[in-house]
Amino acid sequence: MPLISSFDPWRSGMCTCPPKLTLNPYSGCDHDCVYCYASSYVQNFSQCRPKKDLLTALKREAAKLKGEVVSISNSSDPYPRAEANAGLTRRCLEILSGNNCRIQIITKSNLVTRDDDLLAEVPSAVALTITTDDDHLASILEPHAPSATERIRAAQDLVRKGIPVSVRIDPIIPLVNEDPDKLIATLADIGVRHITSSTYKPKPDNWRRLSQALPAVAEKLKPLYFQQGERIGGNTLLSRDLRLKLLSNVRDLASAKGIKFGVCREGLPKLNTAACDGSWLIPPATR
Ligand code: SF4
Repeated sequence: MPLISSFDPWRSGMCTCPPKLTLNPYSGCDHDCVYCYASSYVQNFSQCRPKKDLLTALKREAAKLKGEVVSISNSSDPYPRAEANAGLTRRCLEILSGNNCRIQIITKSNLVTRDDDLLAEVPSAVALTITTDDDHLASILEPHAPSATERIRAAQDLVRKGIPVSVRIDPIIPLVNEDPDKLIATLADIGVRHITSSTYKPKPDNWRRLSQALPAVAEKLKPLYFQQGERIGGNTLLSRDLRLKLLSNVRDLASAKGIKFGVCREGLPKLNTAACDGSWLIPPATR
């Protein structure tokens, strides 16, 4: 299995991302988000470890790139807590910046600002996941990730350095973070240019974590998902009408502030006002 691989090679009908490649420097992630989907298909997920032969394989594969977008990363966070000392994602960026590619970072960590010098050297954009601007709520949803305040500050720092930033308000969980009007106003003031959102989709293990973290909310969500919801491609989703209502609200709040918007795997592509993943923000390849 190559280290840099095609993102969504099956071209699932739910995914509207433009073609891109994906690279995960780490297997697993130690942010321990209650809603994490990847934990349901990667063993020992919270024991974050580097990919085997990471740097050797990357040097070999990066030399073959021809200006493609490399998305880092989609099944784990490239800035887990271990990265502060290990510096492996930074080493990956050093290698990639010497080759012909465009980079999209997807992270929940303000540690990404450490690497702004490298990101400034290569066509790149950063997608920061900020599910809420409430630090207490974020500490329940994402117990070991940097606080919401730190992530908002990171978005601001990156924009000031000229690195385009999108924010993933993702997932939207009904009754928890469904009305991000204050957050979106803050993001607009900072200069964030794109928002991507999707609704929470329960899997057995993330539902268990969510029910432990927010038991009263989980009781209210149960009928919305397991009685009135729908099954699409093996996933449990809220009803189409409720998804449309929640995501239209985010789209309208974003549009009112001049921010582009896209939905992720919702079967509602008409809500997109730009390429869903915010990759349109990455400048063109320079060589
Ligand atoms: S940051 Fe992403 S990969 Fe890591 S635990 Fe949270 S949702 Fe999962």
